[in-house]
Amino acid sequence: MGKAHFGLIGLGVMGENLVLNAERNGYSSVVYNRTYAKTEEFLAGRGAGKDIVGAATLQDFVGALERPRRILMMVKAGQPVDDTIDAISPFLEEGDLLIDGGNSLYADTDRRVAELERKSFGYIGMGVSGGAKGALEGPSMMPGGTKAAYDAIEPLVRKMAAQVSDGPCVTYIGPGGAGHFVKTVHNGIEYAIEQILAEAYDLMKRIAGMNGDQMADVLAGWNETEELASFLVEITEVCLRTKDPETGADLVEAIVDAAGQKGTGLWTVVSALEMGVPVPTIYAALNARVLSSLRPERLAAGALLPAPPAHSFSLGEPADGMAPLRDACIAACIVSYGQGMALLQEASKLHDYNLNFSAIGQIWKGGCIIRARLLQRIQNAYSANPTLANLVLDPWFAEQINRRLPGLRQVVAGAALAGIPVPCLSSTLDYIDSYRSGRLPQNLVQAMRDCFGSHTYERTDKSGSFHTEWLD
Ligand code: NAP
Repeated sequence: MGKAHFGLIGLGVMGENLVLNAERNGYSSVVYNRTYAKTEEFLAGRGAGKDIVGAATLQDFVGALERPRRILMMVKAGQPVDDTIDAISPFLEEGDLLIDGGNSLYADTDRRVAELERKSFGYIGMGVSGGAKGALEGPSMMPGGTKAAYDAIEPLVRKMAAQVSDGPCVTYIGPGGAGHFVKTVHNGIEYAIEQILAEAYDLMKRIAGMNGDQMADVLAGWNETEELASFLVEITEVCLRTKDPETGADLVEAIVDAAGQKGTGLWTVVSALEMGVPVPTIYAALNARVLSSLRPERLAAGALLPAPPAHSFSLGEPADGMAPLRDACIAACIVSYGQGMALLQEASKLHDYNLNFSAIGQIWKGGCIIRARLLQRIQNAYSANPTLANLVLDPWFAEQINRRLPGLRQVVAGAALAGIPVPCLSSTLDYIDSYRSGRLPQNLVQAMRDCFGSHTYERTDKSGSFHTEWLD
């Protein structure tokens, strides 16, 4: 065998599937894994009979690759990425390029791009979404970093990516950590939509008394609509329909109600706070996971803080797709994408990423976890106005929000009276009501700040900075 076209480091769930994807697309490959036994296991299993060879050392791995070397790292984010770069760098030559396909912190990628470019290597930080199946069959990929390095891998990644009607789900995102930042925000939106659907499930179960199959039927109907058709709605239907093989009951009811949160959701919220972009629906989803993990505390609190008296309200009828609840979910999903895109707008300005929002909408249409029919509308909105400040200001989305708001209000109000938490739905309503308000009560906040700290304030009727001796 001649030199391989492509190298993969890290035979975890994602790496294994991505290298099979590359090989299927005509790229002979060489694989390396820190623990060699895993390499042997892979070559004897899923890698058998393929144009893939293994290397026991990084030196052999590098030696087996054609130049410029195209090396994808799929290792745990954080220190393992730096360790891998340090270990492989002595064997690399000018022009070789490294791609980090893990969920790295974008600031780490900024640093690594600068360091590797100083050594005349190309470095790409590439968000990859789609889980194991997507990695094998075609993920959505968000590469950023050295542009020349992207040009060298473009034919490969365009073949590997999910394909939608207007092209592959991959594009050069921007310099430095732009690709990883976009993937981070993608995951923040993912957190929000998962939580929105979980809140809908909770209401259908507790207020409408529906079982898994009945709820799944509603979700199946939602998945037929332009506004909600999506991968996450599709898998929610599957999850709700699945039975526990041991008991025959709905499996979801046997699962412990505590969810963890990994780096990307947290990074989305931290970045948003740092950049001064409100993302309350995404933040609410992150908090909901954190709070859910306090299970023993919640159980103890329930004994001391009883629920309000039973309160019933209408979520609509299954025959009409639970219209108010469906509308609440549509509004919240639109707002989740909108908050994510607003954060990307700010990051693009701050870091000179020069993001193309229409292209981001396009590459999220296939392969990734937040793929949804709505992304075509998002793509259209940013094509029409590349500097759109907020998705809800686009005419099509504004009309949607106005149409869905009565349902959202009805559901949030009913849930509040019933004592059922709907953090993402209620945050969405607060967000819209705040965002559309010409006058907010922060005038009083400014007065208090001037009162205790002489922070001064501006007036509505004249320009300048004013101070009042409030406590005299
Ligand atoms: P993972 O469990 O996150 O990572 C496993 C791989 O990392 C193994 O090959 C492991 O080698 C290697 N590794 C761990 N520590 C290392 C170190 N200090 N030095 C060198 N190698 C080290 O696998 P994964 O789920 O496939 O994820 C890979 C990356 O993709 C992560 O950043 C993850 O967040 C991201 N990602 C995952 C998904 C998903 O659905 N799983 C989706 C998108 C992105 P050993 O075999 O020797 O332990």
